[in-house]
Amino acid sequence: MKRRNLLRGLGLGIAGGLAGGQSVLANENGEKPWNRGMAPLKITKVKAIPTCPHGIELIVVKVETNDPDIYGLGCATFRQRAHAVVAAVNEYLDDFCRGKDPDNIEDIWQTSYVSSYWRNGPVLNNALSGLDQALWDIKGKRAGMPVYQLLGGKTRFAVDCYTHASGKSIEEVADNVSKFMEQGYRHVRIQLGGYGSASLSESPDFKNAGFGTQEDNYLDSHFYLNNVPKMFEAVRKQCGEKVALLHDIHERVKPLEAINMIKKLEEFRPFFIEDPFSPENMEYFELLRQHTTVPIAMGELFNNINEFKEPMVRRLFDYIRIHISQIGGITPAMKVARLGEWFNVLTAWHGPGDVSPVGHAANAHIDLAVWNFGIQEAVNFSETLQEIFPGSPTMKNGFMHISEAPGLGVEINEKLALKYPLPDKFNYNWTQLRKNDGTPVRP
Ligand code: MG
Repeated sequence: MKRRNLLRGLGLGIAGGLAGGQSVLANENGEKPWNRGMAPLKITKVKAIPTCPHGIELIVVKVETNDPDIYGLGCATFRQRAHAVVAAVNEYLDDFCRGKDPDNIEDIWQTSYVSSYWRNGPVLNNALSGLDQALWDIKGKRAGMPVYQLLGGKTRFAVDCYTHASGKSIEEVADNVSKFMEQGYRHVRIQLGGYGSASLSESPDFKNAGFGTQEDNYLDSHFYLNNVPKMFEAVRKQCGEKVALLHDIHERVKPLEAINMIKKLEEFRPFFIEDPFSPENMEYFELLRQHTTVPIAMGELFNNINEFKEPMVRRLFDYIRIHISQIGGITPAMKVARLGEWFNVLTAWHGPGDVSPVGHAANAHIDLAVWNFGIQEAVNFSETLQEIFPGSPTMKNGFMHISEAPGLGVEINEKLALKYPLPDKFNYNWTQLRKNDGTPVRP
């Protein structure tokens, strides 16, 4: 009672002191200062905009509102099931979201997440990401601020990135690392051939026997496991200590093979080794930690942010390798990033070519804001992509820079995007990998 009397004395009425639940700061129309000039909005349409200018299926979601000037864009790219994501957006999220208030991002995320009852699949998560990122874009535009400001502002001037150096021989990999260092890169991922030497091997027995298809890839794990330490040694010898070296195992070898190889890489001081085990083999992390202190990145195949919780708390890996559209957008990614701060787990968002420029911008906005940023995967957009997506992030001296326009800062030329329709058929080649006898390998 004392506190209420004090507030009344100060003219700050509560609990009935003001009519109609008005805030003490509201004007006679009930508008709070931070909302003046921000009329309530309603979502009028949620639609998928697919585009495929370079043979890589990209999907962006556009959320329209009753104010024709205010709309948002978000990345929903899942190239392996692009048509299914388009249907999930156009046939379900559109209907579910119409009439809702786009300001309520968390509420819309939570209710959309359970709107199918069964959840966490990559198709629905990517559709949800497109919606979520578009809502953050709208909020930034309404606030007149880039999204990173809404996440706490900058803790660094730009986003430090690593780029990819590969080659058909160890010498070619080392030469490519030198070239990237000349361009200003301080972090380079080194891969010999494709992942696990897929593109280097001779014709395997399964193909000669007519097993599988002629397009299937072959994993020669013996060649791979022997040559990766030699590649690290050669690159260190040629390029010195100034460059940080990364490598992606891509889950393709047996867990103990991965552990033994990582132990051999210790002397070359890797920045991190990525994806030593498939998500089906999480129990091996404890054994890995008992045998080596090489930093580990993990998680691009995780569907659900709950998959990160226990490994992070137990400090089983060091970098969060989230594919942000795959886990449902900025809203869940921020929760994992903030949790990481408590356990010295740093961010390293997945940033491959099958993420739209809107998605790369979303990665970078979080990168700029969170304290426990680790590293970002570099991306250089073609002229065509920059034309379709004006305001796309740019690279300079190994740093990613983003547009300072309000929201995520990336626009879309819808007409141009639609000139590059999704192909009817998907090329399964990249995911199809076999051992010499034809046994399928999990990528
Ligand atoms: Mg990877």
